[in-house]
Amino acid sequence: MARITGSVCRLCRREGMKLFLKGDRCFKEKCAFERRGYAPGQHGRRRSKVQGYGIQLREKQKVKRIYGVLERQFREYFGKASRRKGITGANLLQMLERRLDNVVYRLGFASSRAMARQLVAHGHILVDGRKVDIPASLVSAGQVVSLKEPSRKNEAIKICLDTAKGRGVPSWLELDADRFQGTVKQLPAREEITLPIQEQLIVELYSK
Ligand code: SF4
Repeated sequence: MARITGSVCRLCRREGMKLFLKGDRCFKEKCAFERRGYAPGQHGRRRSKVQGYGIQLREKQKVKRIYGVLERQFREYFGKASRRKGITGANLLQMLERRLDNVVYRLGFASSRAMARQLVAHGHILVDGRKVDIPASLVSAGQVVSLKEPSRKNEAIKICLDTAKGRGVPSWLELDADRFQGTVKQLPAREEITLPIQEQLIVELYSK
């Protein structure tokens, strides 16, 4: 599993955009990117514009960091995406969106993907009524993702759900907050993944 030591806010500053890695803090004035929207490090303000290979590399790093995936696993996703029918970049993003930790986050059970990963790994999450504790497992259309009965009393999760109700869930998911469960209506289409990602740059990078 991806392990990031140190401040994750540095990652947002490095990528030049908010990656929303810290839950509610990302929506507040305390957000490090809002306060210091330049690259970290002594020469962060002076860094020159990246071009060519650098742009492709940064795009790949950005996506890895958003979803909390390490390089080897990301390459595996890319390999599978390229072997599937359809557009490789769209396939790649769809697989990342289908990760159980991402679905838990999207449904609002957690305020960040890191928290969602922890919920899954600690056995709080059921898929079709069975415990699944592998954050990287992929959900399929029709599956129901829910919270284990005892975990429904968890105050932190309740707060996350209340906040998520205000923000809404993606159109490919359906949340039933009263029953602490969500249904995967269909697999996400590219246009339903609204993150500012240029996946074609990643395809070009790995195709070299
Ligand atoms: Fe990124 Fe969130 Fe930190 Fe802001 S608070 S820099 S969005 S991780």
